[in-house]
Amino acid sequence: MAYTYDDQNIFAKILRGEIPNNTIKETDHTLAFRDIQPQAPDHVLVIPKGAYVTADHFAAEASDTEIVDFWRCFAAICGELGVAPDQGEGYRIISNAGTNGVQDVPHFHLHILAGRPLGRMLNS
Ligand code: AMP
Repeated sequence: MAYTYDDQNIFAKILRGEIPNNTIKETDHTLAFRDIQPQAPDHVLVIPKGAYVTADHFAAEASDTEIVDFWRCFAAICGELGVAPDQGEGYRIISNAGTNGVQDVPHFHLHILAGRPLGRMLNS
């Protein structure tokens, strides 16, 4: 079944400039901003500017240019935050998808969490 993108989701509104955000990095195809309810000292959301619902949707249908731009942007943010394990204390990336993944916003996003020990991956 093909994905249907809801263009009224909150990240679509952020991308259209309809609501504010705390941007930390923007490229041609990617936007990164701070989560409004941070779960760690650094909690950044990285999103493609294109209309993709989940990580698998993005991986399957985004162009090579969009995919490279997204991951290079992610790498640059890790470097700028100083959290990559070769220079800092590490991080976790999470991308929730669908019902079991408990995805609240149906626009693909990567959570970058860093700045404190994050415990084991899952609590339940
Ligand atoms: P998820 O459950 O993976 O879909 O996560 C959605 C995330 O978006 C949550 O961590 C929210 O705190 C965050 N969020 C929701 N609205 C905003 C907003 N306006 N600006 C920044 N982050 C937001």
